[in-house]
Amino acid sequence: MKCLFCSIVSGEIPADTVKESDNVIAFNDINPVAPTHVLVIPKIHYENASELASASPDVLIECLEMASSIAKERELDGYRTVFNTGADGGQSVFHAHLHLLGGRALAWPPG
Ligand code: 5GP
Ligand code: ZN
Repeated sequence: MKCLFCSIVSGEIPADTVKESDNVIAFNDINPVAPTHVLVIPKIHYENASELASASPDVLIECLEMASSIAKERELDGYRTVFNTGADGGQSVFHAHLHLLGGRALAWPPG
């Protein structure tokens, strides 16, 4: 079965795009858990952030920069960036993605 986020990158599955560059795309999460819940993903498929960091550290940094620029544009009063990795990390889509969460006070530690 084709990767869901690869299908979003190719346009086969629509997404609510927030920002895009040559290597990275940011779109709203379909099931937001905060007023800002944006997913920032590399356009090339990597299974998780660990693979992305090994294979393409520049694109990993681009993901973080794009999240930071969206947070600045929205003037968020603090925010959280999270890569869930693997089953215990809560990853459910196995195409690396950075969650940008903000717009409300976020609890810590996570569940
Ligand atoms: P994970 O649990 O892997 O860290 O995060 C996957 C995220 O992808 C979840 O927050 C989920 O709501 C989101 N998601 C799953 N399917 C879709 C989809 O088809 N479109 C969008 N925009 N987000 C999705
Ligand atoms: Zn993919």
